[in-house]
Amino acid sequence: MDNRLKEKYIKLDKKNIWHPFTQMADWINDDPNKPLIIDKAKGVYLYDVDGRQYIDGISSLWVNILGHKNSLIDNAIREQITKVSHSTFLGLTHLPAIELSEKLLNILPKNLNKIFYSDNGSTAVEVALKMAYQYWQFKKEKRTMFLSLKNAYHGDTIGAVSVGGTELFHSRFRSLLFKSYFAMSPYCYRCKFRTKSIPFPLTAKNFKNHNFQVGCKGECIKQVDEILGKYSKKIAASIIEPLNQAASGMIVTPKGYLSEYAKLCKKYGVLLICDEVATGFGRTGKMFAVEHENVHPDFICLSKGITGGYLPLAVTATTNKIYNAFLGKYEEFKTFFHGHSYTANPLACAAANAVIDILKEDNILQKVDIIIKNLETELKELSSHIKIGNIRQCGVMVGIEIVEDKKTGKPYDCKLKMGAKICSRIRKQGIIIRNLGDTLVLFLPFIITKYEISKIIKAIKIELDNL
Ligand SMILES: *Cc1c(COP(=O)(O)O)cnc(C)c1O
Repeated sequence: MDNRLKEKYIKLDKKNIWHPFTQMADWINDDPNKPLIIDKAKGVYLYDVDGRQYIDGISSLWVNILGHKNSLIDNAIREQITKVSHSTFLGLTHLPAIELSEKLLNILPKNLNKIFYSDNGSTAVEVALKMAYQYWQFKKEKRTMFLSLKNAYHGDTIGAVSVGGTELFHSRFRSLLFKSYFAMSPYCYRCKFRTKSIPFPLTAKNFKNHNFQVGCKGECIKQVDEILGKYSKKIAASIIEPLNQAASGMIVTPKGYLSEYAKLCKKYGVLLICDEVATGFGRTGKMFAVEHENVHPDFICLSKGITGGYLPLAVTATTNKIYNAFLGKYEEFKTFFHGHSYTANPLACAAANAVIDILKEDNILQKVDIIIKNLETELKELSSHIKIGNIRQCGVMVGIEIVEDKKTGKPYDCKLKMGAKICSRIRKQGIIIRNLGDTLVLFLPFIITKYEISKIIKAIKIELDNL
């Protein structure tokens, strides 16, 4: 693109737009050549308006699981456009959504029987929370609380934020939120260094003031037991990101934690919501994360990868037990009064149908397995690096936690913006990844090659060597 034209667009962006999760003062004062304007994409690569090529190392913020411009998904959407792009799902239905419900129920855990559509991960969570809450009213029990985990992320709408345990995103809204219990995050790396709670965000300053000690005594799961033991009669549901607290920096839960958590919910009669918005559709190496520990939740929330990163769509899947509780005469008003203008958008459903076909027919999970093994090998070599405190991998999702002092786990001063700085340097090598604090995040699409994985890891190593 002509430089003057590009500058004009960048100026307009900075004048008109407020970007998500962005300190706009930094954004507008950044280099006049930034931000990167993405123009095209193909497979694992994004191209800017100047034709420069970048590996999309975070699957466009975790949605693009099958690469860009996948011809089967492209065609499915094109074909649907020739019929109808949208019609309401209130009082009407359509073929793409019906087909998709059947495909989803075929791959979801067998205890789930009903599909409720919405259009993003946060609303999929809102729907599960509201269904659980309403369910207990039908059971004539007053259950108004939820149980969640510290460091949990379930989206940015108020209900999802209420069960969110990421202080940095949520503490500002605390007085606006409904009350929820929080159990300790199963953050094993940091657990090694501490006794009670880990401040989040963990900064060099609060690190110094904190009394850290070595030793895991399984306190995290004990706390779940304690809270449920004491308060289960008040708790409508507990919610968890199975296997991986992704948005807090890929905090991978220890083996057995999820099944233990699910067991406790069952023991105390509390409904279980598994938020698979990040982990669903093959990212963990199985179709859904709950399969790794044979967990059968009352709700599964899905979004992100469901359309291959093409269009917004979400699903809350639940059981006949929950669904049946809402049945009744019209005038009893047991109806679930919830819906969105774009619920079950037909184009999005058509994309999702194509995605599930590809996942099943192309033996994608076998390919994912190879990616996971290649990643493992590369990361093993990287892990001894003096600047890396901890590497966490869950399938194709990776968190690389950068620290100032490997021995004590001391983080960098947050003013240094170390994570962001490293990512911006890596971008100059033609690779787009993002940081969560000082954790570098990889979220690889299923079409990435061994060579491209090596290239990403090498780029990270080069920039860490340069620190
Ligand atoms: C991204 C995410 C959400 C929120 O999804 P949006 O589509 O961004 O609203 C909820 N839960 C988890 C686990 C996520 O990773």
